Amino acid sequence: MNKRLREDFKVLQAIFKNAKNKKQKCLICEENSINSHLLQKNGILNLISTNSHITQIKGNDFFKAEKDGIISIKSIGINNAMSYPLFCNSHDTDIFAPIEIEEHNLNDYNSQLLFSYRSLCAEIRKKIINVDIFKRVNNSRQFAINTQFIDMAKSQVEANTMGIQDLNWYKNIMELEINNSNNNQDFIFEKIDFDFIPISASAVYTPINPEEHTLGFLKKSENILNYIFINLIPQKDKLSLIIGYHKSKSSKWILEYISSWKKLTQLDFELKLTDLFATKIETWAISPDFWKELKPENIKAFKEYWNKNANNLRITQNVNFNLFG
Ligand SMILES: [Zn+2]
Repeated sequence: MNKRLREDFKVLQAIFKNAKNKKQKCLICEENSINSHLLQKNGILNLISTNSHITQIKGNDFFKAEKDGIISIKSIGINNAMSYPLFCNSHDTDIFAPIEIEEHNLNDYNSQLLFSYRSLCAEIRKKIINVDIFKRVNNSRQFAINTQFIDMAKSQVEANTMGIQDLNWYKNIMELEINNSNNNQDFIFEKIDFDFIPISASAVYTPINPEEHTLGFLKKSENILNYIFINLIPQKDKLSLIIGYHKSKSSKWILEYISSWKKLTQLDFELKLTDLFATKIETWAISPDFWKELKPENIKAFKEYWNKNANNLRITQNVNFNLFG
């Protein structure tokens, strides 16, 4: 690495660190946010933990990817696992009280909505931090002469800002329902149960269909993209998938995708999970013991797929390995 590159790298690391460590406001009020758990410890994450740790698989941030590869696989204490600075203490406590109890009822619409709302908010937070990072890059004297890099930063700010706009559209509708200002039940959720596997996930996915979502379409900020909400929630004797969408933001692909999770053989289920983790969502967790049992060649295939397709959200992707096989 030459001197110039080394300096670039240092500045990027500082930008990244500052953006990550910046105190974030609650996504609802002006208070500072605490670390909110996407999935709670008691009754969910503790079911897949070993010595109070879980293995978290997470897409690495742009700058870290340089050093550690695009996907990071880490053992994390369950107090810090699957958590983001989302809400202040009182909003975090009050809003999610109905699902923080051990005996949460996953058949209940309101519970399904709350799990999905929290994963939506995490995606908003990730995008807010991305905007901050790329604005800092754009404003840094270090990169002023590197036009290609500045152009990339500008398009990242633009893309993340549009993503936040879309996500806020969903957030507002969800909040009206959560506050009981609107009893419409505008979201459609399905709960599908599987035999217990010690994994969990809480994420949103926006299916990109290359035929429909041209660059021109994606660049129009008035187009609100379809999002689906995906939660994999381990329970004592089963693993439940809660999957849903807003009823005016549906498509043939979404309906078929949701049906495709039903009535699966064990092998088909493993292949569906592999596809989900390789091509659709970037944050999930697995029991450390179970991770150790996976075949090294399958983990290698998974990592290699990620290195090539980390930013690929297209529905046309095809994986030809079984992470759990
Ligand atoms: Zn708040």
